Amino acid sequence: MSGEAGSVDGRCPFFGANWKMNGSGIEGLSWLGALQSAGSDGSLSDLDIALFPPFTLLPVLSEAAREAGAALGSQDLFYESRGAFTGEISAGMLVEAGCSWAIVGHSERRHILGESHDTVARKLRAALGSGLGVVLCVGETLPEREAGMEKAVVEEMLGSALAGIADPDPAVIVVAYEPVWAIGTGRNATPEQASAMHGHVRGVLARLHPGPFAGSCRIIYGGSVNPGNAGSILAMPDVDGALVGGASLDAGSFLGIIESRRHTSG
Ligand code: PEP
Repeated sequence: MSGEAGSVDGRCPFFGANWKMNGSGIEGLSWLGALQSAGSDGSLSDLDIALFPPFTLLPVLSEAAREAGAALGSQDLFYESRGAFTGEISAGMLVEAGCSWAIVGHSERRHILGESHDTVARKLRAALGSGLGVVLCVGETLPEREAGMEKAVVEEMLGSALAGIADPDPAVIVVAYEPVWAIGTGRNATPEQASAMHGHVRGVLARLHPGPFAGSCRIIYGGSVNPGNAGSILAMPDVDGALVGGASLDAGSFLGIIESRRHTSG
């Protein structure tokens, strides 16, 4: 269908629900039940959908996620595989808990919890090395955008995380462009701002990894996406889906965002 995210270049749209530190087992099961019902007519079969609940819910939800056709992902991981790292969780543990994806470099971890580029890069390698797909988050703060630095900031984030990856597989690396000023603020990027940055990200990926990777890699938008604003953003070239925080807690809103891609004019 014309205007569906990712349909032009054959990239399978990716929609992630990042629950952050929210949700319970009962809410997760009910959310996945709604997803399963919505997809029972096959209408979600041409998408990748991943739920990123808090760590404690991963084993609780893994069977229901499989039945609903959704992948499970973690919101973070640690880069070591085992040892004296109190409070941390390794990629292997996440695989055992039913995960197939991990978010790496979310802005809340970079800016609230102080994660460096190096830490993000190490986490990304650990995830890929254990067979997890990665949603790599990049994005500029408001002062950085106001200083005209958004493209440079994002390029540095991409380079530090991806430059050393030999032969990257676009099936398991998704880049989420998430302007920090749009996350949880109700202020989303305009479709034009998102499109400009997604095109920039794809260009940087092509420079980092000449070959088919950049054209096949999903680049998704995150930042105050809701059913009302998603359609116009998803219609833009190079926007291959969305990473949704607040609006993903409600299954109806999340499904409304997914559905909006079918009603775009792009
Ligand atoms: C996010 O957490 O990745 C996010 C985009 O949050 P929100 O949709 O709430 O802005």
